[in-house]
Amino acid sequence: MKVKTFAHGIHPPELKDFTAEKAIESLPPPEKVMIPLLQHFGKPAKPLVQKGDQVHLGQKIGERQTLFSASVHSSVSGKVISVDNYNHPGGNPIPAVSITNDGQDLPFSDKEETKNPFSFSPEEIRQKVKEAGVVGLGGAAFPTAVKLSPPKDKPIETIIINGCECEPLLTSDYRLMLEAPEDILKGAELARIATGAKRIIVGIEDNKKKAFEIFQDKIQNFAGEVALLKTKYPQGAEKNLIYALLRREVPTGGLPFDVGVVVQNVGTAKAIWEAVSKGKPLYERVISVSGQGIMEPKNLLVRIGTPFKNVVEFCGGLKEDADILVMGGPMMGIVQWSLDVPVVKGTSGILAWAAPRPSLEYPCIRCGRCVENCPMTLVPTQLARYVKFDDLTAAEKWGVLDCVECGCCQYICPSKIPLVHWMRVGKNRIITLKQKKSA
Ligand code: SF4
Ligand code: SF4
Repeated sequence: MKVKTFAHGIHPPELKDFTAEKAIESLPPPEKVMIPLLQHFGKPAKPLVQKGDQVHLGQKIGERQTLFSASVHSSVSGKVISVDNYNHPGGNPIPAVSITNDGQDLPFSDKEETKNPFSFSPEEIRQKVKEAGVVGLGGAAFPTAVKLSPPKDKPIETIIINGCECEPLLTSDYRLMLEAPEDILKGAELARIATGAKRIIVGIEDNKKKAFEIFQDKIQNFAGEVALLKTKYPQGAEKNLIYALLRREVPTGGLPFDVGVVVQNVGTAKAIWEAVSKGKPLYERVISVSGQGIMEPKNLLVRIGTPFKNVVEFCGGLKEDADILVMGGPMMGIVQWSLDVPVVKGTSGILAWAAPRPSLEYPCIRCGRCVENCPMTLVPTQLARYVKFDDLTAAEKWGVLDCVECGCCQYICPSKIPLVHWMRVGKNRIITLKQKKSA
């Protein structure tokens, strides 16, 4: 089979051996969970509970307020001890519901869905996904119900199921593909029904041949196909994935809707299936705990709101020389300063390693490597210079807003120039100026 890909990108060491063969284990629920009311792209949810309330497992404790928002649910049964600001792995403290776990896991609802899930209408599917607070589990945490609601003038032809997991070290999606392929495909089929798409394509990188073979077998029962993609970073970035599979380019500032596509991560597809077939809210997810700094790397099913500390302790703790802790992948993840932050819906991994010796930044030697490797075909060296000297008009004209912050340019730069920093600064300044103008 021909292996598909896009131009440029990089191939950092994969480092997946730490956990690729580790089956998913369930982490025992902690004594206390802190569940942030903002764990998704958009506005925070509004709290529905207060100190002293008893809650059940799966009970809605925060209601979505706007289209771009998602409801949040309790991941244990027990007593609410506070609704207050708490540390968040995104950086700033965020209002969160703290609950002591009574260890009972009393379910909020035990009524089983009796109707055939595939007989639901598109609107019923969207409604159930919305009720369950499902968001994209690849890291971006975009509300899934919004992705399943394409505008009327943008018909959807293809659902792409993203099984690339192109970030080094992470293997949680890989394990889900090995251990729950039917659930993923059933979720993909529901996404197809909800959007009116004609077909499903499951994209899997060629370093996950075992998963590819399983899906090739299982896809026979669905209107779809499985495609093998070159192992390359960022193969799983939406725009690159769409181009690799369909040779369609999402326009600047546009969305996959614009080219007739909806992309869902494999974990999200499984969450869609559970939301629609069982009414199960998104209160737990699979994460990889990995890196040279973790004593016993694992793939774990973890309740949302579990402190990182509990997760890391279950994996034997941190090694003595582990001084970098990251949520997500090593390329696009967020550095953490404390283990006292909760797992959120967007936590795909908790990684730790020993920091390399600090390296100095040198002047640009105009080697062009950042240009050769940028998957969005930008000119990072030039863009960084425009932003540094505050020429935002030129930076925008040269496409800084198309930067997906993948980090390829910075990874490859021999002068160690913090290119991603300059891209972020440029994007933020331009967006802020635009918002001020339109206010
Ligand atoms: S400029 Fe942006 S999109 Fe291009 S390599 Fe750098 S971070 Fe990635
Ligand atoms: S990779 Fe670094 S040194 Fe080379 S052109 Fe780009 S910014 Fe300059």
